[in-house]
Amino acid sequence: MRRSNCSKNSLGLPSPLRARMVAAFLAALVVAQSACSRSERPRTKDDIFQDRLTVDTLYITADGQQITAPGNADRALVVDQAAGAIAWPAWRCDNPACPGRSATGEPFVFPWPDPFASVSSAGAIVIRQPVSDADFKTMDDYAEQKCPQCLAQRNIARESDETRQQYKNWCQPHVLPSAAKRLAELDAESAAIAARQRERFEQRQDK
Ligand SMILES: [Zn+2]
Repeated sequence: MRRSNCSKNSLGLPSPLRARMVAAFLAALVVAQSACSRSERPRTKDDIFQDRLTVDTLYITADGQQITAPGNADRALVVDQAAGAIAWPAWRCDNPACPGRSATGEPFVFPWPDPFASVSSAGAIVIRQPVSDADFKTMDDYAEQKCPQCLAQRNIARESDETRQQYKNWCQPHVLPSAAKRLAELDAESAAIAARQRERFEQRQDK
C-alpha cells in the first residue's frame, strides 16, 4: 500500500488529529500523576493512629457469638438491629487458674458489654447516661472488669484489695494474631517516621 506523505504521520492520522490525541494523552498523564502523588504523600503519625483503630478485632455478643471484623470508633458492632444485639471487643483472662481455660490452656475470652448501650431504630449504638442510684451502682459494677468464669468462684465481699486488683489486672484486651502482626508493622512505621523527623530537626540545627 502506498502511503501519502507529510499530511499524515506514522499513525496514518492527519496532523491536527494527532496533536489533539497527544494533548489528551498528556492531560490524562497529568491527572494520573497528581492522583498518584496524592496517594503517595508521606504517611503521618495520624494515618498510623487511624490504622491502629481498624485492625482485625474479635467481637463477642453477650450470648457468646464471635465475629471477626475491623475495629471501629464505636468499639462495638450491631449484630442484630431488630433484636438490639451488640457484639463487643473480646477480652481475655490471664489468671493461670481461670476455670474458663480450654483443655489446651488457652485463656478464656469474653465480652465486656456496656450496660447502658442499646441499638436505636436507625441501627446506631446509643449510650444513655446513668441517672438513678441503681444506675450508678450498675456503673460502678461495670467499671471494675471481671472475668465471668473467675467471678463464679470468687467471694468479692471477703477479698483483700490486692486480690481484687489482681483479678482486674488479669483481664486484658484480646489481640488477634493478625492484629498483633499489623500493630507491630505500624509500630515500626511510627518509629521510622520519628527517626526521620529527628534527622530533619538535627539537620536544621546544624545549618
Ligand atoms: Zn478467668
